[in-house]
Amino acid sequence: MRIEKIEAIPFSIPYSKPLKYGLKGHLKSADHILVRVITSDGVTGLGEATPRPIIYGESQPSILWAVEQWLAPRLQGLPVYGLERIWDQMTPLVANETAKGAVDLAVHDALAKSLNIPLYQLLGGWTNQIPVAWMVGQAGLDEMVRECLEVQERGINSFKVKVGIEPDKDVAVIARLRRELGDKALIYVDANQAFSYQQAVRIIPMLEDHGLGMVEEPILAWNSSGRLKLAQRIGVPFIGDESVISPFHVRNEIDLGAISVVSIKTPRTGYYQSRKIVHLAEQAGLSCIIGTQVETDIGVLAAAHFGAAFKIFAYPAESTYFLTMKDQLLVTPLQIEKGMLRLPEGPGLGLDLDEDKLKRYRQDK
Ligand code: MG
Repeated sequence: MRIEKIEAIPFSIPYSKPLKYGLKGHLKSADHILVRVITSDGVTGLGEATPRPIIYGESQPSILWAVEQWLAPRLQGLPVYGLERIWDQMTPLVANETAKGAVDLAVHDALAKSLNIPLYQLLGGWTNQIPVAWMVGQAGLDEMVRECLEVQERGINSFKVKVGIEPDKDVAVIARLRRELGDKALIYVDANQAFSYQQAVRIIPMLEDHGLGMVEEPILAWNSSGRLKLAQRIGVPFIGDESVISPFHVRNEIDLGAISVVSIKTPRTGYYQSRKIVHLAEQAGLSCIIGTQVETDIGVLAAAHFGAAFKIFAYPAESTYFLTMKDQLLVTPLQIEKGMLRLPEGPGLGLDLDEDKLKRYRQDK
């Protein structure tokens, strides 16, 4: 079974409200790309690429170019089982992480489908359901609290709060959330590098007073010495995200010794590189968390399969933001009950794509 064709389809689905975060992050819609890998046996694998110009420097047009013009011609004709060879053919293209990641996800989906097993079983088969967390963007205090309370009623009790623009308001938000959500809720923050070192030193202990669970990328990811000093001063786990965008970055972070949790985002590292990160983290005694690139339900499902495959994931997966999109791309909605996402048992991703909806939201027709 060989790779016969690779397609890249740009689409756009609005979020029901814009997501505001960290350093100039502002997303109104999921302007993503669906990659289809079609094999000589007629099997189709899917992967979703998520352009993040302010993090990876990729855009929708650059991903289309990378997949269609650069990767597809080099991968055509390769056996789908040859994961090592497929990745080797992609590596000469530097950066373009989410373009390569989406192709890799689609190849794995095709492979699992051809073997007639769910992806989580192909990848490691640890479990078939995972706990999930909710991510709340920066908004008015009352609005953020209301959103979290509504989510808690649906059985989710882990909350990642975007912080970093107004540090004093952040303290008020976490204090109020702790009061309203109760002692058992996991509440953690992601500053997307927006705090200065001095702000982080001042603010994080105040958040800890309100039962902060973890802190993600409080200051600039390249500020190694600042991150290490900060990690030594705080009492909660430090999650790496923008600092761990490849296995090489993870290796450097292990040497530095600041982080204790690695955010794994399958859209940027595919399954091939994500597996390497899991193994590095294991060897260094770190935990992992499934992070979100605010994918649609397709990308969320891909990440969830990875989260279900390995034992190392110690925290709920950030796999719920797709619920704030104005529409979904799957015929059968993902099952989230009592804070748990159950993986479908069909082959590969186990999804049924709604082709009519894709037609409606695609940008190239
Ligand atoms: Mg983050």
